[in-house]
Amino acid sequence: MNLHEYQSKRVFARFGIPIPKGEVATTPVEARDIAKALGGPVVIKSQVLVGGRGKAGGIKLATTPDEAEARAGAILGMNIKGLTVNKVLVDEAADIKDEIYLGLVIDRSQRRVVMMGSSEGGVDIEEVAAVTPEKIIKIAIDPFIGFRTYQALELAAGLGIPKELTRSFSEIAAGLYNAFVACDASLAEINPLVVTGAGKLLGVDGKMVIDDNALFRQTALAEMRDSAEEDPYEAEARRFGLSYVKLDGDIGCMVNGAGLSMATMDMIKLYGGSPANFLDIGGGATAERVAAALRIILSDKNVKGVLINIFGGITRCDEVARGIIVALDEVATSVPMVVRLVGTNEEEGRAILADANMATAATLAEAAQKAVTAAQSV
Ligand code: GDP
Ligand code: MN
Repeated sequence: MNLHEYQSKRVFARFGIPIPKGEVATTPVEARDIAKALGGPVVIKSQVLVGGRGKAGGIKLATTPDEAEARAGAILGMNIKGLTVNKVLVDEAADIKDEIYLGLVIDRSQRRVVMMGSSEGGVDIEEVAAVTPEKIIKIAIDPFIGFRTYQALELAAGLGIPKELTRSFSEIAAGLYNAFVACDASLAEINPLVVTGAGKLLGVDGKMVIDDNALFRQTALAEMRDSAEEDPYEAEARRFGLSYVKLDGDIGCMVNGAGLSMATMDMIKLYGGSPANFLDIGGGATAERVAAALRIILSDKNVKGVLINIFGGITRCDEVARGIIVALDEVATSVPMVVRLVGTNEEEGRAILADANMATAATLAEAAQKAVTAAQSV
């Protein structure tokens, strides 16, 4: 789950990271009032869950409350990379002398949280990583020892942080690590971490991604979810307890179990196709959940074929077959489908599908081949 900039920065502030004063507005008049209360130049920042808002025109400076109102009016309702701006953050404008990147991610190969810093802050860090990777300094953190001051100092030296700011930098880096761990984050970044004209460090932009699997114990963060800003089908999938990730291929997949889903996607690729999504309906799926899954798959306009691969254990094949029929009653579709059902109640399931003239396959290889051929002939 992604947090908005203002939410991330409020979390950071709780961990001792200095951030600009500011408030969120949903109307231009609110933006004006906030600017007036802050009493100086402000920056109006669109709150959408994508990066590169600055380049897209979603961040504007304003020197007076009048100007803040006008800028907020222009930004609110704007479309940035397919998302509508419903909120703006009105922050005290920072006097920026230098921009640093500071972030934390999980490096699976090292099995460590890794802190990354770059003197090339403000801009797209992915671009820095691609073009000038030597400008990114990485420090792996031992989970049992935690983040140590010497690591912060090493990073500060590498980034060329002025001597008088190393203490503040150490506190910010430690605060970011503590926030990352306490919030079960998978990403936490400050970009840019700014050196101001007055010679202070300030976290001007913030981003956090919280591990969805930890939301059960991160209730305060879970409540911050902004469903209006998320992909509607991913939100729908979550409502039905489905694990769904949209991809850019054209064969929709419905599978039970994450491992079998991955294997199914591999098989599609093996036969020359490309999966449109990852979708795990989970164990013991009901007809209702299966129907929701199929609706979500078919809502993707790129889908030219559907492959349903169910290994019935706790999940009953007849229940899955009934769900498919229910979904097809609701959504009229001409998209070809291939179903492979194996395991508990497979005969009953196949009989239901045969009654509805659905194509079935005996093996996964056969199913994948059929789905790829069908999609290619559309
Ligand atoms: P992003 O484009 O979505 O990453 O949004 P950021 O908050 O990082 O802003 C992008 C850029 O806008 C920053 O790197 C700064 O150069 C500039 N910017 C953001 N806030 C301020 C501010 O308060 N004052 C000034 N002068 N520039 C700002
Ligand atoms: Mn940024």
